[in-house]
Amino acid sequence: MVKCSYCGYEGEFKLIKTWKFRLYNVERLECPKCGGIFNHYYGTSPRGKTSEYVIRVKPRTTPKKRPAVETPSLIPPI
Ligand SMILES: [Zn+2]
Repeated sequence: MVKCSYCGYEGEFKLIKTWKFRLYNVERLECPKCGGIFNHYYGTSPRGKTSEYVIRVKPRTTPKKRPAVETPSLIPPI
């Protein structure tokens, strides 16, 4: 089971892309909860040992809080 290294979410992640790196299959995943992006590596060594790890790519795509839009009342009347 893959676990988000940013918020700890476990479950279904959005799959962005996959590729192979040496013995590993790599999945770039996006967390649906916090929006964090990470690479999930998993593979089997020649000795038959399965290894799996996660590397962080970037915390989130867009900030949830945006600065308030300036209201027209802030513009001084001419
Ligand atoms: Zn997350």
